[in-house]
This record gives sequence, structure tokens and C-alpha cells, in this order.
Amino acid sequence: MIRIRKLLIANRGEIAVRLIRACAETGITSVAVFTDADRHALHVKKADESYSIGPDTLGGYLNMHRLINVARAAGCDAVHPGYGFLSENPDFAEACESRGIRFVGPSPEVIRRMGDKVAARAAMIEAGVPVVPGSDGNLESLEAALATAEKVGYPVMLKATNGGGGRGIRLCTDPASLERNYERVRSEATRAFGSTEIFLEKAIVNPRHIEVQILADAHGHVAHLYERDCSIQRRHQKLVEIAPSPQLSEKQRSHVGELAVRAAQAVGYQNAGTVEFLLDHDGSFYFMEMNTRLQVEHPVTEMITGIDIVQEQLRVARGLPLRYRQDQISRRGFAIEFRINAEDPEHDFLPSFGRITRYFAPGGPGIRTDGAIYTGYQIPPHYDSMCAKLICWALDWELLLSRADRALRDIGVFGVKTTIPYHLAIVNHPAFKTGNFDTGFIAAHPELTQSPATRSNRNVAVAIAAALAAHHGL
Ligand code: ADP
Ligand code: ADP
Ligand code: MG
Repeated sequence: MIRIRKLLIANRGEIAVRLIRACAETGITSVAVFTDADRHALHVKKADESYSIGPDTLGGYLNMHRLINVARAAGCDAVHPGYGFLSENPDFAEACESRGIRFVGPSPEVIRRMGDKVAARAAMIEAGVPVVPGSDGNLESLEAALATAEKVGYPVMLKATNGGGGRGIRLCTDPASLERNYERVRSEATRAFGSTEIFLEKAIVNPRHIEVQILADAHGHVAHLYERDCSIQRRHQKLVEIAPSPQLSEKQRSHVGELAVRAAQAVGYQNAGTVEFLLDHDGSFYFMEMNTRLQVEHPVTEMITGIDIVQEQLRVARGLPLRYRQDQISRRGFAIEFRINAEDPEHDFLPSFGRITRYFAPGGPGIRTDGAIYTGYQIPPHYDSMCAKLICWALDWELLLSRADRALRDIGVFGVKTTIPYHLAIVNHPAFKTGNFDTGFIAAHPELTQSPATRSNRNVAVAIAAALAAHHGL
């Protein structure tokens, strides 16, 4: 067992703040890094220590060498990579470990294997976890792609083998569209992930995205923390996440939980991870990929289980056994997370960077806000547009919907366009309220961007802000 006294947070934004909070609760000294663009970022203000890593032109949060140097110079005994950036980079995990700095995550070998979606599929087939029918390995040529598609049947999904973040994925409905997309996905894969490798799998038509949070220690224990429903997506990117899924029976819930545990055991997984599945309309689950890191939507699981996933990650990284057996992990109620992005939903979600002129965090029972913004903060255009996450919890689905509606009206982010009005339209949409939706929901409801409820709420919010500003003599 090792001790973690000082933790380097190799990330920025809300997740860096989240990790700093975990440190503060466990007596760990938090060490932040920041690029020139992030000089005034919240994580820099909140950390115990913070160090510049220079301009983004030097690689920013992807500059392993610099990050490791900071960790060594500051005397950190561990590094938490958060999500995105270096979190799924096996070379970084290896470089940390070889310098005696504990990487809070799975082993480099497991990161490497599961980061390759083709290798991950092969591991799952071997473990008896169902995968969507598809190519045996990477596609060698367009001809091979056409032959495989013919075999599994259209529609098919072309995917970057090392992809992530919803990029490098295209639906092909027939041979002509497969021909059109083949080179496109290859070049996307090269540009975004530095690899030309692509593969193909059968496209499940309007599936549900169901993922299972797992925790695994160094002593062979694996447990799951139930599932999340991330079917509300725009262009393969999650927008709203729910735990547990309102669409599963208890039988399906325990089945998918067992599949996830089997998947983790099969690859000797350690630390927190997520196994993503597609749920077909006929009730079949198919393994899609494993994310070998903390996920954006981990708070909804924390809300229903009461388990702090980051604290568990730190314990596992120290070599401690899991604190809970599967039968000691219970859940209560429902939780939902809204990704608050600085984007304009009325203009195709165009990023809307700029100064936050006013920010009010919502409060009241069952509300959690994980954010990286404050009044006066200038959102830099260099990074992701997600600036906060609003998380709500309630005892049942109906109560959750009304609480979410209340909280989305309660929160105030002014100065930039955000996805808040869009989320309000979602929670008030009759089809969403039924609790039955699939990954086609956003595309099927273009009226969400035009919702009158949304508009009027926005106007009310703006009027309140204006009145407050007048009151404060601004
Ligand atoms: P989650 O899987 O946790 O729901 P996202 O898919 O939204 O989260 O990804 C979280 C962040 O990580 C985003 O900024 C996304 O662009 C980035 N990301 C995810 N996978 C990769 C990858 N393979 N390469 C580069 N960036 C990635
Ligand atoms: P990423 O690594 O970018 O997260 P995933 O493989 O997890 O990529 O896929 C992202 C999303 O794309 C899924 O949540 C789902 O909506 C859609 N998708 C991926 N594969 C398929 C498939 N075979 N059939 C239908 N939809 C899919
Ligand atoms: Mg995914």
C-alpha cells in the first residue's frame, strides 16, 4: 500500500475542480497545472498549488514531458488524468509509473488494449460478452469493407479504431454510402487520433446507450455501480445522462451489470471504468467500448449510490481493497445530468465563447453543480465548450423531471449562449417525460430548438437578470 500525499491534476475545467475537491476532503495536497489561456481558470484558484505549463503551442495539457516534470518538481506521488487529454494515453500512464508516480487509473496494458476498439471487441468475444457483428479486425480495403457489410447487413457503422468523443463514426445505409464514407472516416481518424485504422460493425437502429460504472481493485474484486442511460445524444455526443436507466427492467439491470463485471474481469481491469453497451429494441445488449477513465457523467452514479467514485479511485490506486461488496452497493432514486455547454442551440450549437457576465449556481434539495465558471470568467476558445454540469436527484422519475425543470430555471449563466434552454425543452418534452427514448431522440425532435417554453423562460431569466443588474446599479 502506498500513500498519496500530493496529487498532480493533469487536467482543466470542471473535472479539475472536481478532483481538487476530492483532495481537499482527504487531506491530499492538490497541484494544478495551467496554460497561458487558463491563467484565470477556477481550478488554478482552487488548488493548493498551481504551476504554469506555458502556451498551448507547447502542447498544453497533452505535454507529457512538462506534466511529469511539474509532478516531480512539486513532489507529487500520484497523477490523476481526469477525462479527455491524456486520460486514455497508455504512454503517459507508463511514463508516470516508470518515474515512481502512481497513475490513478488502470495499467498501461489495459488502457492500450481497451483503447483499441478492435482489440477490445476481440477480448469481449473471448470472454463471452456479446458484441455487435462486424469486421474481425481493422479494414484492409474498401473491398473488404463492402464484403463485411454485405455479410452483416446494412445499415453499418464505420468507426475509427482509436476513436473517442463521438468523432470518427459514420452511419452507412448502403454500399454507395459506405464507398463515400470510407476515406472520410479514415482521414477523420488520422486527423483526430493519429491512426488510419478503422473498422465496421452492424448499426443498431435507434438503440439505447446503456453504460455500466465499475470499480475494481488490485485484489481481484470487481463491482458495478449500476447503469447510466446516455441515449440523449447529439451527433454521437452525450448531452443528458440518467442513472439508473428508466427503460430497464430489474432483470435487464442485473444482466447488464453482470456483463460489465465479466468484461472488466476478463481484461484484469483495475480502478474505475465504464463499459458501454447498445441496447437493441429486441432487448439484446451489445458491448460497444470500454472507457478506461473517470467519465463526464460519473456524478449521476454518485447521486444514486452515495459512493464518491474519485475517492474510490484514489483508494484503489493506493492498493487498498474495495470498501464495498456488490451486495453492499445499493441505489436510491433517479439522477440526471445536463451538460451545460457554451453553445448556441438555435444556431446549430455553434460554440459561444466569451465573458460570463453573471453566474448564479442553483440550490435546493437534490441539486449539485460541477462547474468551472464564475461571474467575470472569460471562457477561452481553446478548449471544450462544456463549462458546467447540472446534476439533479429525486426519489422517482416524475419528481426528478419537476426538480430538473426547477433547477434549470434556477441556474443563471449570462453573457454567453448556453444549452440551458435546450435542456429545458428536453425535460418538458412529452416524449422524454415518458422515460422511453433512444439515440435518435434529438434528431427526431428538431422542434426542441424552437420550443416556446424555452423562449419564454429565457426571456423571464433575462428580465430577472436585467432587474437585478439595475438593482445593483450595474
Ligand atoms: P464521456 O465518455 O465521459 O461521457 P465524452 O465522450 O464527452 O465523455 O469525452 C470526454 C472528453 O474526452 C471530451 O472532451 C472528448 O472530446 C474527450 N475524448 C474522449 N475520448 C477521446 C479520445 N479517444 N481522444 C481524444 N479525446 C477524447
Ligand atoms: P466514442 O468512443 O466516440 O464514445 P462509441 O463507440 O462509444 O464512440 O459510440 C458513440 C455513439 O455512437 C454511441 O453512444 C451510439 O449512439 C453510436 N453508435 C456507436 N456504435 C453504434 C452502432 N453499432 N449502432 C448504432 N449506434 C452506434
Ligand atoms: Mg463511447
